Amino acid sequence: MINANNLRISLDRRSKGSDLDFISHAHADHISSAKSTKHAIASEETVALLKKINDIELKHEKTPDFMQLYDAGHILGSKQIAINDEVSGRRILYTGDFQLQNGRACKKLQITGADTIIVDSTYFDPRIKFDERSEVEIAIQKWTQGKLRNGIALFSTFALGKAQELIMILNEVGIVPVVSEKIARINEVYAHCGLDLDYIADYEDGAEYIQLLKENFVGITDGPGDQIRACVSEAYGKRVYSAVATGFSKVMKFNTDVQFSLSDHADFWQAYDYIGMTGAKNVLTYGPNAVQMAINLSRNGCGAEPYAEAAVTQQMATLIK
Ligand SMILES: [Zn+2]
Repeated sequence: MINANNLRISLDRRSKGSDLDFISHAHADHISSAKSTKHAIASEETVALLKKINDIELKHEKTPDFMQLYDAGHILGSKQIAINDEVSGRRILYTGDFQLQNGRACKKLQITGADTIIVDSTYFDPRIKFDERSEVEIAIQKWTQGKLRNGIALFSTFALGKAQELIMILNEVGIVPVVSEKIARINEVYAHCGLDLDYIADYEDGAEYIQLLKENFVGITDGPGDQIRACVSEAYGKRVYSAVATGFSKVMKFNTDVQFSLSDHADFWQAYDYIGMTGAKNVLTYGPNAVQMAINLSRNGCGAEPYAEAAVTQQMATLIK
């Protein structure tokens, strides 16, 4: 929790006694304050996604003048927050999950300056480097087109964010995928926000759906890939080729025919570059890998420490003195 302008502001966590709760985006690991908050700061897209996915009516506030939201390039509606603390004169930037490479289904990362940056630590290991996004996208398109000649292509991926990226990548080469119900419901919010997604929901029973299933098709599911693969193979009597699309493809081996490292996060070196772009002199790392991220940044010449409320308060106290 940050103290700024005599307000306690929580960052993507439920914090007892907070006056404002910032929710950077609608992924499940960032919304723990959503149910209990009295005053949340979030984008309109995040508000709509929380309603659709979690049935939560977020009590959200107009963003106060001393705060600004910036696009984070992660998923629909994902934001960073910059807080100008008039007491200390410092500007603090919290990134939430962010990405430097441009996705198709969300707004591009906006860069802003800050004195202190609180940076996400999902990819803390300097040895993990994501491939050029355009190359990953082309690999997905080519693999899918090839497999469709002989059978069904089935992707397992996250329902919010990654599935919509995948749909747009496939749409570009004329492929209209069949998607699971959860993905289809989330797609409705994307469509409402002006994103053009061409897909068929797996609960539809119209002529287009029936015709599509007679041919080889592409499925996108957020469910357990192995089980769904077996069911699809049995139901349609065709070979099913399986794939995952996630940044974790760089870290672990999945039980699929192929894995694509399509990420909606910055890798370590992209985060390193972003810190430099903001000009922040004080670097705090945030999230489950905060300690390791701080060590790795410091080893590479960017002094950092894991985020702790005390660290931010200490920096402010130093400045006030
Ligand atoms: Zn996220």
